[in-house]
Amino acid sequence: MTEPTGPTRTAAVLRVPDLGGAQDVTVLELLVRPGDRVELDTPLVTLESDKATMDVPSTAAGVIGNLLLKAGDKVSAGSAIATLAGPASDSPPPARALEETATLATLRATEPYGGEPYLDTVPMRPLAATAAPAAAAAPPGPAVATAAAAPSAARAAWDFDLVVVGAGPGGYTAAFRAADLGLAVALVERDATLGGVCLNVGCIPSKALLHAARVIEDARAMAAHGIRFGTPEIDVPRLREWKDSVVGRLTSGLDSLARQRKVTVIRGRARFASAHELQVEAGDGGRRVSFGQCIVAVGSEPVRLPGLPDDPRIIDSTGALELDLPGSLLVIGGGIIGLEMATVYDALGVRVSVAELTPGLMPGCDRDLVRPLEQRIAKRYERILVGTRVTGVEPVTDGLRVSFEGARAPEPVTFDKVLVAVGRAPNGGRIDAAAAGVRVDERGYIPVDRQMRTSVPHIYAIGDVVGQPMLAHKATHEGKVAAEAAAGLKSFFDARVIPSVAYTDPEVAWVGLTETDAKAQGVAYEKASFPWAASGRSLALGRDEGFTKLLFDPQTHRVLGGGIVGSNAGDLIAEVALAVEMGADASDLALTIHPHPTLSETVAFAAEAFEGTLTDLYLPKRKGAGKPA
Ligand code: FAD
Repeated sequence: MTEPTGPTRTAAVLRVPDLGGAQDVTVLELLVRPGDRVELDTPLVTLESDKATMDVPSTAAGVIGNLLLKAGDKVSAGSAIATLAGPASDSPPPARALEETATLATLRATEPYGGEPYLDTVPMRPLAATAAPAAAAAPPGPAVATAAAAPSAARAAWDFDLVVVGAGPGGYTAAFRAADLGLAVALVERDATLGGVCLNVGCIPSKALLHAARVIEDARAMAAHGIRFGTPEIDVPRLREWKDSVVGRLTSGLDSLARQRKVTVIRGRARFASAHELQVEAGDGGRRVSFGQCIVAVGSEPVRLPGLPDDPRIIDSTGALELDLPGSLLVIGGGIIGLEMATVYDALGVRVSVAELTPGLMPGCDRDLVRPLEQRIAKRYERILVGTRVTGVEPVTDGLRVSFEGARAPEPVTFDKVLVAVGRAPNGGRIDAAAAGVRVDERGYIPVDRQMRTSVPHIYAIGDVVGQPMLAHKATHEGKVAAEAAAGLKSFFDARVIPSVAYTDPEVAWVGLTETDAKAQGVAYEKASFPWAASGRSLALGRDEGFTKLLFDPQTHRVLGGGIVGSNAGDLIAEVALAVEMGADASDLALTIHPHPTLSETVAFAAEAFEGTLTDLYLPKRKGAGKPA
């Protein structure tokens, strides 16, 4: 325990009262945090003696400054609990809270995939100070700082406390979270339905079709095990209808969620008119919407390959989801989106080829993780052309004649359709950001800080428009950070890792440090793998090509990252993500009892392999491993 040494603004020290003579009583739990406002009698700490448990109430009102004890400390009458700053509710957070944040942030920076759990949300300094630079960027008009610091005052000045532009997973999450935190929120969307790319033409429809593909493949595979279903009859219109109904349920659900939260949905295409105004154009004309704060969540669009002819047989992922099945399809781009669509079209009987510019499929993922997928699709697809550039696509009567370049490039080949899946480009350049003073980089990304604030601090940006990885779960997480920051909470984007998943067959998932990155960056690691051929559950599913791989810090044995390939790898990787976030080590995973028989056991088995305690396989012992500590 330390006596107060904090800022001079400290007004009082809250102390433990007489405990009926009890000495050295244990602090069980702290009930307040630095920056919390307390009233007379607000419980501060819970103490536990050998006779009773008791809460110690505050003897004054004010804002908690430094906490002067911690759980487990022994206290007696007169021991200092906390400093209490003056009664003003807008006092800046105490130095210790900021110091802790800074220290923990430094810890994270030096230990990219390990370190202490981060202090996430602490009450925030009033925005007046942080918002000040916006005044410079903003055109003459009402003061900027009012927006977050005093929403009720702002309401008089602006149409809404907060306007969110774009109703994708980032935007609707931000709007709903901000509304839950008490802000008056509008959500502007140019499309007829809410949900953005993810719900309408991305994650959800593609996963519905991938489910159909999996059912077809599972049914087909069972023939070898004594159950024959016959050749599937694929009713494409009915399949399309089902996919659309899944999307419809989710998007209409968003409408209800918006109504329940009293989020005003404005239809139309928004662009900035000033640092506090948007011009929203819709079919029925335009309107100005003013805001105290704004979150830009305008997402991304498919990249078009320059030089391709304008031909309806050349499609992007949105066109591919329409399921107008050709006899043959060339997928240009062997990344996640291209390979997922290839999985669907292959299962539905289309002859699929893939051309990828880089030397391997799924760039960014460890090669060993991609191998089982490569081996499976090599037997099924017509061609897999890696290290191959598409140099031209020429419309001919019977299809699209495609020319290639590269060491193993074939002669020109004619396909019925070509799917271009070479990446997505951010929409930052399409919203007149300059009118608000928001900086957009030359590629269309909007740079942001860890609170998702743009160069204009009362304007935030989230999701695909702020950078890679372009993933829905990154967008939603950022949406919550931005909404909380806008509502005055001190939230930061401080997730250590963002998992990636290809929902191919088999699925490929990875999180945190990859071996490729570790080698490139010179990060020391040790690894352990568990092959699914030794997993009872995997064998019972009729698939044994998968494996689970974990990377560990050689010194601390903390989990640095991991990769999984096999059925449901996308679900299983969440445990590895949690392990990295929580700074778990190999024994944490190995000693957690996993249900049997499940694929989740393979995570524990990989950790046991590292620990030298694995019994489901015989592995030569690592030096010193396998003995209880
Ligand atoms: P978006 O979802 O792009 O939403 C932006 C919204 O803003 C859109 O609704 C758009 O209409 C609107 N908008 C744009 N400009 C304006 C304007 N000026 N005014 C008003 N509204 C505007 N990610 C995953 O995590 N998992 C997956 O399985 C997955 N699968 C995918 C499959 C496919 C085929 C595709 C294409 C993408 C997939 N993604 C997946 C990526 C995921 O869809 C995106 O990362 C995610 O949608 C990004 O969310 P966002 O909120 O940033 O933007």
